[in-house]
Amino acid sequence: MQELLLFDTPTRPDRDATPRSRRYYVWTVGCQMNISDSERLEAALQGVGYSPAARPEQASFIVLNSCSVRASAEERMFGKLGEIVGLKRAYPDTCVVLWGCMVGPDNRSIFERQLPMVDHFVSPSAVDAVVALAPNAVYTLDEPALPVRDQEHPPVSVHVPIQYGCNMSCSYCVIPQRRGRERSRPLEEIADEVRRIVARGAREIVLLGQIVDSWGHDLPGRPQLADLITAVHDTPGLLRLRFLTSHPAWMTDRLIETVARLPRCMPEVNLPIQSGSDTLLTTMRRGYSTARYRDLIVRIRAAIPHIALTTDVIVGHPGETVEDFAQTMALCAEIRFDKIHIAAFSARPGTIAAEQELDPILAVPEAEKQERRLAMEQLHEQIATERNAAHLGEIVEVLVESESRGKWRGRSPGNKLVFFAHPDDWAGRLARVRITQTSPWSLQGIVQRT
Ligand code: SF4
Repeated sequence: MQELLLFDTPTRPDRDATPRSRRYYVWTVGCQMNISDSERLEAALQGVGYSPAARPEQASFIVLNSCSVRASAEERMFGKLGEIVGLKRAYPDTCVVLWGCMVGPDNRSIFERQLPMVDHFVSPSAVDAVVALAPNAVYTLDEPALPVRDQEHPPVSVHVPIQYGCNMSCSYCVIPQRRGRERSRPLEEIADEVRRIVARGAREIVLLGQIVDSWGHDLPGRPQLADLITAVHDTPGLLRLRFLTSHPAWMTDRLIETVARLPRCMPEVNLPIQSGSDTLLTTMRRGYSTARYRDLIVRIRAAIPHIALTTDVIVGHPGETVEDFAQTMALCAEIRFDKIHIAAFSARPGTIAAEQELDPILAVPEAEKQERRLAMEQLHEQIATERNAAHLGEIVEVLVESESRGKWRGRSPGNKLVFFAHPDDWAGRLARVRITQTSPWSLQGIVQRT
């Protein structure tokens, strides 16, 4: 589950003269899948004559893309909906769509709340259903109503969903209820989308799925992620390829070998461990043991010595004892991940863990959860500081994404943020950067002459 980070993605402003009636505003909270859904929605809305608005009051069509992974994500959305109330009063013609994981067949909480400011509810990833609600969409006869991804200027790095839903039943997770069973997109459809996005200027593609390495098992011929990576790897213009999020029970030696062999496939794997205790992994229904996880790490590091490993950890899951938590700390200290996404357990209605949380013997007190989160964050910071410091003096190849406040910002092959100052335009280009300064969260450097 990569869904432990929260992002806001306000729509980019623009300065054209499109009237308010054909302006949209998309607000997103959640994971990379939500960000990707919103990017696809924006591209589709632009394809039917809409332009982005910088602020919600400048738009007649407002889409709020929601996330249910943590209670805090839902609370943020309710806060946003509160802001929309006044806006609807001032502009009664505004059409408001609540989209994403909060709108699912089993989410009673959303329908129990009074949300008069919302005109339509649409389930996750249903881009076409949202576009169909845009009141002033303009369709031309010779164009499909929904261009796949025809943004004129896509970002340097684009997330492409290759699979929707999840077939697992992790104790704490609402994704299977909200996004349904796994559906893989056909290889040719994905390859075609990648070609089109890269032809328009993207340089990095991130293949996205809840369990991305299970892609293809539901398609005819049961192709594997390794086949898809191989198929899109040589797309003309593509510089880098990544995939997100892996599951320890699905990662194969063939996939590891493919990442090791293909030069544009970046040495980075996000492999959520969630807990370092076997007892808790069973409670969480994760489908692997710590021994299997450790063995997988050994095989990955043997095949790709410079791999960057990231993981997700939940602390304070019901039943997590002091000893279970100590085992998670020990495992993280042993593996020394480049990055750990840490979440204190928050009960999601309808999950097994939410039931367990009601049992005072199993529930971890809130203060204890926060203490464990803090301890894990300190360990993470210490490891990240040391791992990043090891890059000091190295020359790393950086794919540059954007410029902000006089510095170019890009990513190393291991997906570390790198900043450097230079007068040239580096957007979308590879720069060789000597690292002169490191911190736990980023690297700074100087461009080298080629
Ligand atoms: S059910 Fe498990 S594997 Fe599926 S999305 Fe949730 S955490 Fe990930």
